[in-house]
Amino acid sequence: MLTGSPLRLTRTAWLQILAEAWRVYPEEACGVLIGPSGSGEVLRFEPITNADASTRVFTLDGREFARVALRADREDLDVIGVVHSHTHTPAAPSPTDESEARKPLVPPSWYWAIASVGWGEPELRAHRVDPESAGMVETPVVLTH
Ligand SMILES: [Zn+2]
Repeated sequence: MLTGSPLRLTRTAWLQILAEAWRVYPEEACGVLIGPSGSGEVLRFEPITNADASTRVFTLDGREFARVALRADREDLDVIGVVHSHTHTPAAPSPTDESEARKPLVPPSWYWAIASVGWGEPELRAHRVDPESAGMVETPVVLTH
């Protein structure tokens, strides 16, 4: 069941995410979503190097993340979500994603957008931590213009 505020993004951002996932395939791609603080409105996708260079896990490169977050802050925007790709599984959170999303330094409001490529039809789905169950729930992805 899809619940909660949708993640809204342009077709351009959607294509950029899938393109980045294909670019680094078979490794997992990652990046962040930039938008107004507390919103689900994506103004842009910023790809970030996967510091793990792995086909199974990802870690946002810390230096690149800091640069991207600082730039957003200067524009009065915020990192509103994290993006990564799955290359062996559907675009649903893995047990690793579920535990990463609950780490103390990860904002609980973040959207977790997962692009699945190389496995079935390419797709992008979004999820958030549900404060009540503490599990992750899928939220709708709405494409704007
Ligand atoms: Zn994952």
